[in-house]
Amino acid sequence: MAAILSIHAHPDDAEILAGGTLALLAAAGHQITIATMTPGDCGSRELGPEEIAAVRRGEAAKAAALIGGRYLCLEMRDLAVFNDDASRRRVTEVLRRTRPDVVLTSAPSDYLCDHEAASVLVRDACFAAPAPNYRTFAEEPAPPIDGIPHLYFMDPVEGRDREGRFVRPDFVVDVAGTFARKREMLAAHASQREWLRQHHGTDDYLDTMERWTRARGELAGFSYGEGFRAYHGHPYPQSPILQELLGDRWRWCTG
Ligand SMILES: [Zn+2]
Repeated sequence: MAAILSIHAHPDDAEILAGGTLALLAAAGHQITIATMTPGDCGSRELGPEEIAAVRRGEAAKAAALIGGRYLCLEMRDLAVFNDDASRRRVTEVLRRTRPDVVLTSAPSDYLCDHEAASVLVRDACFAAPAPNYRTFAEEPAPPIDGIPHLYFMDPVEGRDREGRFVRPDFVVDVAGTFARKREMLAAHASQREWLRQHHGTDDYLDTMERWTRARGELAGFSYGEGFRAYHGHPYPQSPILQELLGDRWRWCTG
């Protein structure tokens, strides 16, 4: 059994970009943790930041529980995720507590500052987490992990970087079999449908996700798909562990 850590910026990002893959891995018996940098405290016009944060922590925990996973929040704040010393130590502590074999995080270039900061924080905390002299200053700190975990980037939102260029995944996971569960996981984030309708002009949260997942599937001949890129920085492990865990449920991107 492998330990899988999904760590993105906000509640619902992982469900939209990787929910079907996480459901597949959970069904294969792997242990899933879904972590977010913030509790989504800016995601409401009606509720104050702490009120909406409490609602969204509950929604995220419910979504994770649908696949037998647990939810963790790093308690940074929306539009205030920064690649700084304290934040890197905080992400490192989560890596040491969850001891993942595979880490899935946000794309390095994405439309939202928090997504980009989360990506670089996770990348660098993966490097730091095995180093015993790198202290997190947490209460009862967890011991260093044995080695740098395998790191993968999810797609950027809408598959485009900040210049609007298409970001091609390395490979696409076939999530047709878990699409219904992915939809249920996203539906657990009930507070966000109304927020997105007002702020982004998107009327249907779930249908937008469905169109997106279909479009990603088309890149590899699947009805529904999710794309990923492996991070290949020098000391990071290079073997295709995620593809191996997924068996025949993936293909190289051909689109
Ligand atoms: Zn987000």
